[in-house]
Amino acid sequence: MVGRHTLSTRDAAEAAVSGPGTRREIVHWIGGRPVPGRGPRLEVADPSTGSVQAEVTAATLEDVELAVATAGEAYRSWREVPLGRRAQILFRYREALERRRREVAELVSREHGKVLADALGEVSRGAEVVEYACGIPALLAGSATPQVSTDVDVTSVRQPVGVMAGITPFNFPAMVPMWMFPIAIACGNTFILKPSEKDPGASLLLAELWAEAGLPDGVFNVVQGDRVAVDAILEHPGVAAVSFVGSTPVARHVYETAARTHKRVQALGGAKNHMVVLPDADLDRAADAAVSAGFGSAGERCMAVSVVVAVGAVGDALVEAIASRTRAVKVGPSLDPDAEMGPLVTAAHRDRVRAYVDAGVAEGAELVVDGRGLVVPGHEAGFFLGPCLFDRVQPHMSIYRDEIFGPVLCVVRVDTYDEALAILAANPYGNGVAVFTRDGAAARRFAMEVEVGMVGVNVPIPVPVASHSFGGWRASLFGDTHAHGPHGIHFCTRTKVITTRWGDPAERGPDLGFPRTR
Ligand code: NAD
Repeated sequence: MVGRHTLSTRDAAEAAVSGPGTRREIVHWIGGRPVPGRGPRLEVADPSTGSVQAEVTAATLEDVELAVATAGEAYRSWREVPLGRRAQILFRYREALERRRREVAELVSREHGKVLADALGEVSRGAEVVEYACGIPALLAGSATPQVSTDVDVTSVRQPVGVMAGITPFNFPAMVPMWMFPIAIACGNTFILKPSEKDPGASLLLAELWAEAGLPDGVFNVVQGDRVAVDAILEHPGVAAVSFVGSTPVARHVYETAARTHKRVQALGGAKNHMVVLPDADLDRAADAAVSAGFGSAGERCMAVSVVVAVGAVGDALVEAIASRTRAVKVGPSLDPDAEMGPLVTAAHRDRVRAYVDAGVAEGAELVVDGRGLVVPGHEAGFFLGPCLFDRVQPHMSIYRDEIFGPVLCVVRVDTYDEALAILAANPYGNGVAVFTRDGAAARRFAMEVEVGMVGVNVPIPVPVASHSFGGWRASLFGDTHAHGPHGIHFCTRTKVITTRWGDPAERGPDLGFPRTR
């Protein structure tokens, strides 16, 4: 660590998790300890009350420089650490995460606004990736082909790429970073996380867990901040690879900039996920799924269902079944055990979502359930918006075209399966999609034909498990690899092919010809 005042780990932990009423200070984590930054301070809201609960210091160019230099130095020794020892550290990380999962979830819930049960689910989905990475000695196994020529053997090995960076969105402040860093670190890379400035507190807890697990200093680092930090990472020659998850315009910017600066890059973008309900579907099951996936986490999930496509005669009964369930959704502060849906992340985001609802009404869609008037007693200043359900939405309307990322569910009615598929094909996004039907052949045809990266059959949020990678198609992902799982191992390593001859060549003397197979 060079020339910078640091806080003790305990100071930072207290600063990051102290109770309501005090304004926490959220700092960077560089070289195994908290580091106060010098950049501007940004407010972190409490979405349930509308008050400010913390301040995060945005990184300057100098902060990013320090993080990259520290991670670069740590890489020289971490890449040499034997796989068995790396696996032991990952196992300890898994145990520490399990021990403190409620603490992580509560912090996520307090800063993001999602209800605690949802935040606990987020932590456990992140932990799955840590568990996957614990198998790194097997996952990094290469391949060998003996005797490809006389006494010549060829082996392929996977080696780390260097300093990797992860830039993450507000909606999964624990899980999305954990899609990235367990595998990056297990593969022998060092890592810099740039979390969302809207709910950055969990990043410091995740860093502390690494210290508890015995990870060498400098292998995992956090720089806080906004686009200044992101652009500094993208331009820095010391960063070899960037994983990004966020909205499509920023994903495109990250992909293009990182390619220009010769970095390996994967950039996961936004979504507009459709759920197609065929005429033979179990309507109660489909309505349950639409409401759970539409309004869970207040619609702030990249795998949220935002459009239900009702095929054939199911429209009226389906809309009625969804509407009655929508009216019953309990909205409340994120830590209220009775609440099923919390507030939106910021006042600005809530206002943006509400403006879409106004626009939908103005454009002629039928607002069957209107959540705009919702008041949560005792939390009048919180960023709440009740669930909204639109029927008879048309593809030209802004509520259909744009990713709203809030509790707004649109029903589009079509007559045939082919029309449903045409609507999906015309939509620029391709993250997730679901089909509800009792017909196996129809479901199989749908899964094979649809141009979307993750498909659910009678499953509304088809989030793959950690051993299968996560990613969309088209405007939902820029790059070649999906996140975590086998694609994660591929993204976090470079292939090296080693050709070896140890035997005594039968023919001696120079041979200027191109090597032939012998
Ligand atoms: P965002 O794009 O606004 O921010 C993502 C990250 O980029 C943050 O760390 C932010 O600080 C940074 N950033 C924001 N604007 C920037 C700019 N102009 N230049 C450089 N960096 C910038 O996304 P968000 O609002 O935090 O998250 C919601 C979005 O993320 C939604 O679009 C959602 O669909 C998407 N998302 C996608 C996936 C997926 O797997 N495809 C998963 C989760 C979220």
